[in-house]
Amino acid sequence: MAKMYYNGDANLGYFEGKTVAVIGYGSQGHAHALNMKDSGVNVIIGLRKGNSWNKAVEDGFDVFPVGEATAKADIVMILLPDELQTKVYNEEIKPNLTNQALMFAHGFNIHFNQIVPPSESDVLLVAPKGPGHLVRRTFEQEAGVPALFAIYQDVTGEARELALAYAKAIGALRAGALETTFKEETETDLFGEQAVLCGGLTALVKAGFETLVEAGYQPELAYFECLHELKLIVDLMYEDGMAGMRYSISDTAQWGDFVTGPRIVTEDVKKEMKAVLTDIQEGKFAKGWILENQANRPVFNAINDRESEHLIEKVGKELRAMMPFVKSSRKKEVVGSGK
Ligand code: NDP
Ligand code: MG
Ligand code: MG
Repeated sequence: MAKMYYNGDANLGYFEGKTVAVIGYGSQGHAHALNMKDSGVNVIIGLRKGNSWNKAVEDGFDVFPVGEATAKADIVMILLPDELQTKVYNEEIKPNLTNQALMFAHGFNIHFNQIVPPSESDVLLVAPKGPGHLVRRTFEQEAGVPALFAIYQDVTGEARELALAYAKAIGALRAGALETTFKEETETDLFGEQAVLCGGLTALVKAGFETLVEAGYQPELAYFECLHELKLIVDLMYEDGMAGMRYSISDTAQWGDFVTGPRIVTEDVKKEMKAVLTDIQEGKFAKGWILENQANRPVFNAINDRESEHLIEKVGKELRAMMPFVKSSRKKEVVGSGK
C-alpha cells in the first residue's frame, strides 16, 4: 500500500510566527481558512470587495486586497477559481512575492504552464478530495476529507513539512493524505470529475430518468429511483465498499447489478474513457477550457441554461421542498461563485 500520512506525521508548530494568506473565500477558501483558524493558525484573507469579502469579515477574519494579503504573508494559498488564477496571479500576487511559499488546491495552472512561479518560492499543493463545504462540515464533526499533497519546488527544504502541517490544520490528516505530483493530481482530478464523479454520474442519472419517463412512468418516481436513492447506495459504498453495498441490497438487485452493469458501462464506454484521459494528458481539455473562458463562456452558459431546465431539476426541486431533512449546502454554507 502507498504510504499514507496521518496527524502524527505532521507538526502544527510549523505555523508558529507565520501568517497564511488564503486568497479567495469560496467553496475551498472558507473551509481552509476556518479550519486553520480553529487549528490555531494565523490566517488572513485576500479578496476583492464583494460578497466573499463581507462573509469573511463576518466570520472574524482580517481581509485585505489580494496584493496586500500576499505581501503580509509567509504562505499564500491560492483558492480562486482555476480560470481566474492566472490573471489575478500576474496582476496582484506576483508583484508582491518576495519568497513566500505558494500553495494551490489543484495543479491545473502550474501543470499547464498558465502560472510560472518565481524560482525563490516553495511551490506545493494540498488538494482535499472533496467539495469545500464538506471540508468544513467534516472538520466540525471531528472528521476530515482526505487530501493529496505534492511538491513542485522546494527551495527552503521545508516544503513537505509545510504541506503536511497545512493538511493537518485543515483536518485532512484525520482521514489521511497521499503524496503525489502536480501532473498526477491534475490529470486524475480532471479525469475523475469528468468521467466518473460529475460528468459520468449526471449523464447516467439523466439517461436512466429519461428512459423511464419516455416509457410513460411517473417523473416523480423516476426521480426517486434514479437520483434520490443514489445517495443511499453511495453512502453504503462509502462505508463498506462495493461488497458492503451489495450485502445490503436484495439478491435480485445484486444479480441485476452483475448482469446489467456491464451492458450499460460497456467496453466502448471504457474506450471513450481512455480517449478522455488522452485529451487531458495532451492538454487538449485544458486548452478548450482556457479558450472558452477567454470567449466569455458561450458554450458553458448555453449548456448550463439548458441543463437547469431539464425535467429532473423541476421535479426534484418540488420533491426536495417536501423533505426538510434534505439540507441544501448551497444556501447555508457556501459562498463564492454559485457553488
Ligand atoms: P470558488 O469559485 O468557490 O471561490 C472563488 C473565490 O474567489 C470567491 O471567494 C471569489 O470572491 C474569489 N474571487 C474570484 N475572483 C476574484 C478576484 N478577481 N479577486 C479576488 N477574489 C476573487 O472556488 P473553489 O473553492 O471551487 O476553487 C478554488 C480552488 O480549489 C481551485 O483551484 C479548485 O480547483 C480547487 N478545488 C476546489 C474544490 C471544490 O470543492 N470546489 C475541490 C478541490 C479543489 P467573490 O465573492 O468576490 O466572487
Ligand atoms: Mg477538480
Ligand atoms: Mg476534485
